[in-house]
Amino acid sequence: MAAVKGKNGTTKKSYLQGLQGMNQEHLEEELRNLYQLQRIDSLIDEIRTLRGELPIEVQELEHTIENLKGRIDKQNEEVVNLEKMISDKKNTAKDATALIKKYESQQSKVRNNREYESLSKEIEFQKLEIQLSEKRVKEYKAAIITKQELATQSEAVLKDKNKELKIKKDELEEIVGETEKEEKALLKKSAEAQANIDPTLLDAYKRIRPNFKNGLAVVTVEREACSGCFVKIPPQRQTEITSHKKLVVCEHCGRVLVDKEILDEKKKAPTSKVLENHAG
Ligand SMILES: [Zn+2]
Repeated sequence: MAAVKGKNGTTKKSYLQGLQGMNQEHLEEELRNLYQLQRIDSLIDEIRTLRGELPIEVQELEHTIENLKGRIDKQNEEVVNLEKMISDKKNTAKDATALIKKYESQQSKVRNNREYESLSKEIEFQKLEIQLSEKRVKEYKAAIITKQELATQSEAVLKDKNKELKIKKDELEEIVGETEKEEKALLKKSAEAQANIDPTLLDAYKRIRPNFKNGLAVVTVEREACSGCFVKIPPQRQTEITSHKKLVVCEHCGRVLVDKEILDEKKKAPTSKVLENHAG
């Protein structure tokens, strides 16, 4: 995650000014505890993020399924409409056939050519009507086949999505259970770590953390730069950091700086099984 610069770097520095002058006997231990606390709290943050993302995935999937169902309903409705149109056209053809029969029988009784011709025209017209109806029936039947194919495809997708949803829901349930358990354990660890930190330092930590999206108030020095904001740290300050005799704050972002070695030799980094299992 990219480093986020605090909104008011100057204010942040001011409540750390007192601390920066602090030349404590046990500062090294304090910094170690503080960094350990940061790692525990970051893990809690990550677990909460993970738990927050899965319900969104489930919701999105449910939304997709709703849309698919709507699409299938619409396709089926269109098929019903087309079937109705076919039956209408068939009725039209039936009526035309009956009319033709009627006109033909009338023709046998006419007394002059003019009447005969007039009935012939009517018969011709009804024949065209039948042809047109048959043409439409063919078209509607073809349209029904297309709609049914689309509906079959949608049904197949729906089936897959429903399967996917079930898996996601099971996964969510499992993760919620796991994360809640881990979160509880980590919160306990966090409270224990907090008890070992100077109250002023702890207070500063708690105030710095919300200033950054990633919640990092304590960061290590990486490649001679602050790993929170990536701004280079002057050599003299780097020496101060490694000596563990002085509290050093990044002049650019206001985060507390520690060297990488401070923890690894004495304290194990906290871990999360849930996060490891669901990485990436
Ligand atoms: Zn920085």
